[in-house]
Amino acid sequence: MKAHDGMYIGGQWRPARGPDTIAVVNPADEQVIAHVPAGTADDVDDAVRAAREALPGWAATPPAERAARIAALRDVLVARADEIAETVTAELGAPLQLSQTVHAGVPVLVAGSYAELAASYSFEEKTGNSTVLLEPVGVVGAITPWNYPLHQVVAKVAPALAAGCTVVLKPAEDTPLTAQLFAEAVDEAGLPAGVFNLVTGLGPVAGQALAAHEDVDLVSFTGSTAVGRQIGATAGGAVKRVALELGGKSANVILPSADLAKAVNVGIANVMSNSGQTCSAWTRMLVHKDQYDEAVALARAAVAKYVPGERIGPLVSAKQQQRVRGYIEKGVAEGARLVAGGPEAPRETGYYVSPTVFADVTPEMTIAQEEIFGPVVSLIKYEDEDDALRIANGTVYGLAGAVWAADEAEAVAFARRMDTGQVDINGGRFNPLAPFGGYKQSGVGRELGPHGLSEYLQTKSLQF
Ligand code: NAD
Repeated sequence: MKAHDGMYIGGQWRPARGPDTIAVVNPADEQVIAHVPAGTADDVDDAVRAAREALPGWAATPPAERAARIAALRDVLVARADEIAETVTAELGAPLQLSQTVHAGVPVLVAGSYAELAASYSFEEKTGNSTVLLEPVGVVGAITPWNYPLHQVVAKVAPALAAGCTVVLKPAEDTPLTAQLFAEAVDEAGLPAGVFNLVTGLGPVAGQALAAHEDVDLVSFTGSTAVGRQIGATAGGAVKRVALELGGKSANVILPSADLAKAVNVGIANVMSNSGQTCSAWTRMLVHKDQYDEAVALARAAVAKYVPGERIGPLVSAKQQQRVRGYIEKGVAEGARLVAGGPEAPRETGYYVSPTVFADVTPEMTIAQEEIFGPVVSLIKYEDEDDALRIANGTVYGLAGAVWAADEAEAVAFARRMDTGQVDINGGRFNPLAPFGGYKQSGVGRELGPHGLSEYLQTKSLQF
């Protein structure tokens, strides 16, 4: 796609208020592929104003009509899937096949699910002598990360639109082209002017201005815990609603009765997909002590299939590459054993990191506690089920996880004891309707499905 040199505000591409731009870099070859405007507080203000003006009309639009617009948006995403996939590959570095199936494919499912939900959801309930109206929260400030450039946008914008809210989006500075493409899709789908607005820009400038804007009613943020904490504090100070999707350090718990080879293979694939840049990735693999050596051998064999530049792409930026290599060095320094990969870059050009497997990782090591956001898996040995549970729950995070056992009921019993927002049982499939979000410091609120829709609604009770 051709980059826009303006902002999408009030249904048009308008020149940015300031002269600054952001260079977009292809992480596979380190070439600058485009420039987008770096928005200022004035651009954010324009966009919030447009969203505020559009709010009464959109909130009063019958849900069936909102549903039809979201369905039209879904159809544009389908029609432009190739362009979306190519754009994600260009600015994120994901292999094209992953961009086609996941980066372009999942948002179609999510947008489709909200087209259906908007039409079928009960925006009015009865309880006792009351009627409860579920009304849109208002103007939403959405701040998204780069790891799933379109999914993160659609997972906020689609439910917000379904609820009758209007939106200002500030996408990640590393992947603004996909966000511009999304704004084109919104336009093509015929959404009324001002219902969706896009301001590209830097986090501490445009992001901060959006989070702090007094005319924004709800801030929905996905990204790092450090920034999330700051946004939560700002929103709390202004008594406005906030939803936070933060980091994770999910455990993949392989119980002794499980199909070990399958659990290890799927576990490695889960982390290597998207170069490990997935907040819900199962980066800690917990294996019973009697099966540990076999699991290490299986993991070494499984990871060998992920050849950098072929099946696995680079990280998004030089900064992330450096950060992840720093964690690998730290793992070695703290005494973990490298089974595959290591801190050396596997290719001369591009922000690649070697797919890395660590064994002899103990639960308190930095690599077992902190989110790495790269293709790095830590194999941790447990003594018995209680020990596995203690390790699984022993981080500040609680976003996702997995349990494997021969008997589904055995896996479910373990999953019930995990402090985490999602658990995949024996490699369960992705469900766009399942609520996604964190326990503990992984966040506040839920995305996707009806739970994700309710985040954008507030209640009004009428008594009779
Ligand atoms: P980040 O939190 O810095 O950025 C996420 C979004 O917030 C971006 O749009 C950014 O511009 C914006 N932002 C940054 N500073 C801001 C501020 N002060 N006020 C308002 N908005 C601001 O994340 P990052 O630097 O892109 O990635 C760093 C780490 O975040 C990763 O290593 C990973 O641990 C984590 N991360 C998590 C997820 C997730 O889905 N949970 C996604 C991406 C990154």
